[in-house]
Amino acid sequence: MASRHSEDGVLVIGLGRFGSTLAETLQELGHHVVAVDSNHDLVQRWSGKLTHVVEADATSEEVMRQLGAHEFRQAVVAIGTGIEASVLATGVLLDLSVAEVWSKAITREHGRILERIGVNHVVYPERDAGERVAHLLTGRLIDFLELDDNYAIAKLRAPRGICGRALEKTALRSRYGITIVGAKKPGGEFTHAEAGTVLDVGDLVVIAGRTDRVESFAAEIGGS
Ligand code: ATP
Repeated sequence: MASRHSEDGVLVIGLGRFGSTLAETLQELGHHVVAVDSNHDLVQRWSGKLTHVVEADATSEEVMRQLGAHEFRQAVVAIGTGIEASVLATGVLLDLSVAEVWSKAITREHGRILERIGVNHVVYPERDAGERVAHLLTGRLIDFLELDDNYAIAKLRAPRGICGRALEKTALRSRYGITIVGAKKPGGEFTHAEAGTVLDVGDLVVIAGRTDRVESFAAEIGGS
């Protein structure tokens, strides 16, 4: 049975909005996905789109073992509102020695419980989406992604103040603590930004730096 689920196989528990989107995307990316949900109607609905959908209670270790959960290297518990089921299903996967377990949390407390029982990754989809939209709404950022450890990447229009001269002359790193990593002319494609790159008004840029630096750069001169 060890080869039944390939190395890149992912077990997805819960076919709510988050879990179903995740499962569908993984499958589109070419991964072997087995999705599990205890809701009969949802299983029926997704069985046409996902190759392997199983109706089962993921909080039962016996049931999950029969499904071959222990053969997966990666699993995602996409149960949110049912915190008890989320914690129990996560515990079952950890007990079955699944190497990489990702679990969705809806509150910080929920996330802390998951961390306490030893989950490898806690994801907060609602919180992350809320933070991202807040950055997009309040700043001049067109796109924003906060990575771990207070580091962010953002897309914005090239500020007028740094256009018309080579990037090396703008002292962006020393003045703002940010780096321009890529630039794109209207209608063109993104290319790497270099010391000699000269931006024009209307260009798009991708910047990287500490989250607070990215925010203050965008607030002070971004879009101006
Ligand atoms: P989303 O926001 O992603 O739509 P949610 O956070 O509201 O989902 P829930 O509705 O609690 O999360 O659970 C997501 C899915 O997990 C549901 O389809 C539900 O049927 C399934 N689920 C809940 N408990 C279990 C369980 N014990 N075993 C298998 N699936 C379960």
